[in-house]
Amino acid sequence: MPDTALQPALRTFVRSLPKAELHLHIEGSLEPELMFELARRNGVDLPYASVDALRLAYAFDSLQSFLDLYYAGAGVLITERDFHDMTMAYMNRAKEDGVVHVEIMFDPQTHTARGVAMETVFAGMARALRKVRSSMGITSYLILSFLRHLTEADAMATLEAALPLREQYKDLWIGIGLDSGERGNPPGKFARVFARCKALGFRLVAHAGEEGPADYVRDALDLLQVERIDHGVRSEEDALLLQRLIDQQIPLTVCPFSNLKLQVIKSMPQHNLARLLRLGVMATVNSDDPAYFGGYVVDNYIACAEHLGLTRHELVVLAQNSIAASFLPPEQKNEHFQALSAYVAENPDKKNPPRGGFF
Ligand SMILES: [Zn+2]
Repeated sequence: MPDTALQPALRTFVRSLPKAELHLHIEGSLEPELMFELARRNGVDLPYASVDALRLAYAFDSLQSFLDLYYAGAGVLITERDFHDMTMAYMNRAKEDGVVHVEIMFDPQTHTARGVAMETVFAGMARALRKVRSSMGITSYLILSFLRHLTEADAMATLEAALPLREQYKDLWIGIGLDSGERGNPPGKFARVFARCKALGFRLVAHAGEEGPADYVRDALDLLQVERIDHGVRSEEDALLLQRLIDQQIPLTVCPFSNLKLQVIKSMPQHNLARLLRLGVMATVNSDDPAYFGGYVVDNYIACAEHLGLTRHELVVLAQNSIAASFLPPEQKNEHFQALSAYVAENPDKKNPPRGGFF
């Protein structure tokens, strides 16, 4: 899917641009090769004869058809080492894309329902993330996400099962999210469990306004009190809501390849990211489930530059927004802003020299 026409200099510039990834499901980073390796290691039968046959199955026509395959793929994850290896594979890939900080969503219900212990999930991811923090300098947080097609009682039970681990993983687990199929599962269904999470001091996010209507974005803000919206591209259908997002600078974690693969849009030129950005929305670009959607975060930036005509300056703004919209403390954000500013200054745009300003 990644284009070929974008000038190589801009491609290189985007790759090394310091950026944060804020919308990434770790289970969605499981590449077919690793899925097969883990299946072999654990003696799990996959309903595909080969890596190629599995890749062919990645032609989705809706969020649900993707989710069916996604949950089947997650079935190979059983041991602490499996969660470690999957996380490490993603972090190595993120480093290549200039990612300096990542906020990773994970779905414990996908694993605990199969008999995997909550502790196994946390331990494997945390071992990889702590190692990467000291060896590569990439920081990370974990966002425990509830599956919205299940009940609120199930979400509450999941939270209670995870809470005893909070102290042990407090350097990583800072947030709560809401993902899986939007349709028929409005945010209000989870108002009580989100209220409890807020009282516990977690940072809150929720998927809304991808397949679901703009109303779900408003409900996520008002009923769940989230600070950031995952996707949110359909907010454009509601002028009042859109103005609120702009006025309050509520971040959207947009995932262009995901929207394309799940047929929220028919083609990349139809994506509204550039419009949202130019209206003043705090938009960011992310990969969502990169193993399934055909590209990692830089592939998404580059496709937007190519198909939506984003300027170099706008690509820098996207990276700047990703830092601003993260849950990092202000002093760490400032360090990244300074590094970003220095990187832009060291790599001047020879075609369009700046006329002043921050970038
Ligand atoms: Zn997502």
